[in-house]
Amino acid sequence: MNPILKEDLQTINKLLSDTLVQGLTYLSKLDETPTSVDLISPTEKNLSSVGVGGQEALKEFIDRFESLMVASSGPRYWGFVTGGSTPAALMGDLLATIYDQNTQTTKGHGDVSAIVEFETIRLLLELFGLPDDFMGGFVTGATMSNFTCLGAARQWVGKRQGYDIARSGLTEPIHILSAVPHSSSIKALSMLGIGSRQVTKIPTLGPTREAIDMSQLEEAILRLNGEPFILISSGGTVNTVDFDDMKAISALKEKHHFWWHIDAAFGGFAAISPKYKHLLEGWERADSITIDGHKWLNVPYESAFFFTRKEHTLLQIETFQNSNAPYLGDPNENFNYLNFLPENSRRFKALAAWFTLKAYGKDGYREIVERTVNLAQELGQFITDSAAFELLAPTRLNTVCFTLTNGSEKDVNAFLSQLNDRGKVFMTPTFFNGRAGIRAALVNWRTTTEDVQIVKEEMNQVVQNLQSTVR
Ligand SMILES: *Cc1c(COP(=O)(O)O)cnc(C)c1O
Repeated sequence: MNPILKEDLQTINKLLSDTLVQGLTYLSKLDETPTSVDLISPTEKNLSSVGVGGQEALKEFIDRFESLMVASSGPRYWGFVTGGSTPAALMGDLLATIYDQNTQTTKGHGDVSAIVEFETIRLLLELFGLPDDFMGGFVTGATMSNFTCLGAARQWVGKRQGYDIARSGLTEPIHILSAVPHSSSIKALSMLGIGSRQVTKIPTLGPTREAIDMSQLEEAILRLNGEPFILISSGGTVNTVDFDDMKAISALKEKHHFWWHIDAAFGGFAAISPKYKHLLEGWERADSITIDGHKWLNVPYESAFFFTRKEHTLLQIETFQNSNAPYLGDPNENFNYLNFLPENSRRFKALAAWFTLKAYGKDGYREIVERTVNLAQELGQFITDSAAFELLAPTRLNTVCFTLTNGSEKDVNAFLSQLNDRGKVFMTPTFFNGRAGIRAALVNWRTTTEDVQIVKEEMNQVVQNLQSTVR
């Protein structure tokens, strides 16, 4: 064994506890750590022949990069849709790293990690109030979850057209209907060879709505003349968290044949609060559902899961099986995650989710969801009451979509970059209803009313600064 590696093996306890201490120091300062940094591009160093050992590597990391770590898992990182990590989620994730299992089969040989993943999927179905008709698994993010679900959907459409697309490739175009699909679904369509241009965009209910217009959807369905299609629904859009009418769509399933996919990456969490679960009423009839773990579940990156109906398991296996690897066994007999989703070798991702679900239960998650929604509403109210800002859409759930009153795109960008540069809060730009705007999405378990207070003061301060530079 290489002598430096050997020394690290002998001192592994110290190395890991020093590393943990470093991580805990970061966590203890998370509230004050800036949400953005000035990125001076660090000078790159070459790989040396003789290594420095773990201790020196840690030291170099701290010297060169530690101060550039932003508080993206902190309470005021409201850009994109960014969750943090609960204490128990961190516990599970650390152990997943240490145990380093390759999570694949649930059939006895190998290890127990896939059985834990099964159990975690069942816990999640319970959390979301979904029936036992679904199977599921973990992937790296909602993008890959959409990819997995749409991969199974592609096979379903092919079967109705008389083809096995997984084997023979696409023969005919596949019709996709959707009002406001997330960009990652479009990306998934490109990756699946369906083609991003195959989406027929159905109008929404109005200029400040992102929910699908049901009568326009029905007309589009009739124009397809009974041809199979995939409907991609939004269970919470990213700009204004609008929901397609799940109940009305589930009624359409009686009349028409289609694969119903719901992207509920973060909006799915509405289902766990009695106050908001009506937004998803009817979603249990979907064929597939995407939900992120690294957003409102507050487990570390990279984590998302999908739910697909058990009746479609075979279609999914046809799509993702390792058909040229006989040593993997008969996919129908031996359930194995590597024949059920894109990845073959897989990290024990479910463990972080399992820990946090066990630790905080339904009540814990309902509290996180309701608190973050209340805080978003508080921010929305501040914007409504303020002369300097205006909402671009009502604050429907946990995301505030706003702009500067009478502000040009340039003004909005200037405001946002100053706000973000100050490092107390991070938001992201958007464009909604023909206007440049800003999004603040609240899904972090740490966020409190004090954080909203800090952000209000920051926003007022930046507006004042900008006004004084104009004068
Ligand atoms: C975030 C998000 C995605 C993409 O998720 P990743 O986890 O970044 O891959 C897809 N759909 C919706 C609605 C999202 O909010």
